[in-house]
Amino acid sequence: MFAPMKKINFYAGPAILPEEVLRKSGEAIKDFEGMGLSILEVSHRSKEFMKIMDEARSLVRELMQLSPEREVLFLHGGGLSQFHMVPMNLLNDNETASYFDTGTWAHGAVEEAKLFGKVHIACSSKESNYNHIPKRYTLAANSKYLHITSNNTIYGTQLNLPLAPSPSSPVPLVCDMSSDIFSRQLNFNDYDLIYAAGQKNAGAAGVTIVTVNKNILGKVDRKIPRMLDYRLHIEKEGMLNTPSVFAVYVSYLTLQWIKQQGLKNIEAHNARKAKKLYDAIDTSDLFEGTVAKEDRSAMNVCFTVKDITLEEKFIAFTQTKGIVGIKGHRSVGGFRASIYNAMPEEGVDVLAQAINEFKA
Ligand code: PMP
Repeated sequence: MFAPMKKINFYAGPAILPEEVLRKSGEAIKDFEGMGLSILEVSHRSKEFMKIMDEARSLVRELMQLSPEREVLFLHGGGLSQFHMVPMNLLNDNETASYFDTGTWAHGAVEEAKLFGKVHIACSSKESNYNHIPKRYTLAANSKYLHITSNNTIYGTQLNLPLAPSPSSPVPLVCDMSSDIFSRQLNFNDYDLIYAAGQKNAGAAGVTIVTVNKNILGKVDRKIPRMLDYRLHIEKEGMLNTPSVFAVYVSYLTLQWIKQQGLKNIEAHNARKAKKLYDAIDTSDLFEGTVAKEDRSAMNVCFTVKDITLEEKFIAFTQTKGIVGIKGHRSVGGFRASIYNAMPEEGVDVLAQAINEFKA
């Protein structure tokens, strides 16, 4: 399955991409759409690229089965820029938004929202180093929106969606899906705003997919710089300024690949991969998972070796099998295997086998 030069990529992002996407991206660097130009050199206003942008937006719409009032954008600035764009566009100074505090990124979103309005912490697992998803949450009275992070990339926890119990009063739901977008079937119209950095399940770094319900925009008093105004991006159909042409193209190819697979199959594939890996960890007496079992992520599998002196040895052992990128995030330690959509089951098998063999 894996040619000798090809590593098995478990990095958390930028992350593994489907082979087909890499091949087609390479071809477009040499000659984009038979134009005799590289995609790196074409105008974003060329009819060839405008078509890609249109189709990429349509693919998101189609995969998510979005309702007409929802718009799709491919923005710059990564997931992090959405931490300020969301409150800047949705929250007045004197208003309150509710936030789940379930990990480093979720917490980052909280801190940025405080620059623009008031924040109510709907629930938090910070005190237990984010090792679970709290099962209860509260909404502030008149909460302007509720912000959740569907998958906590660093800690390896994932929300069971839709939220239970669902918010009793209808409140716009904003979700950071950076590390699990298109990994499972969801009713995407439950969300008024979704954002996801490209570099995990949706392409390369340099692009952030945003879907937003137009009806929640235009209700804040403040002036918004042009690049940070969702309404302007919508009006200009994603061409307010030069988009990340190549990154949009890689997303477009990735979305086509996702469509070919189908979200239902992708979800089943992801569940099989995650089960294999967690089973290997749970049945080994050397390793243990780091988060509550019911909240385990199907995207980022976090685990440790009980005897910490074996940590480096395990990394070295996996490297002999071509495995890269399993060192845990610096704030957690241990190991993290990111098994996004593009990770084949065979890749997970190699790691599961390494976990089994390591004892010997
Ligand atoms: N949210 C989540 C859940 C993430 O995992 C990340 C990045 N790993 C971000 C936001 C920030 O994304 P970016 O680095 O593209 O700004």
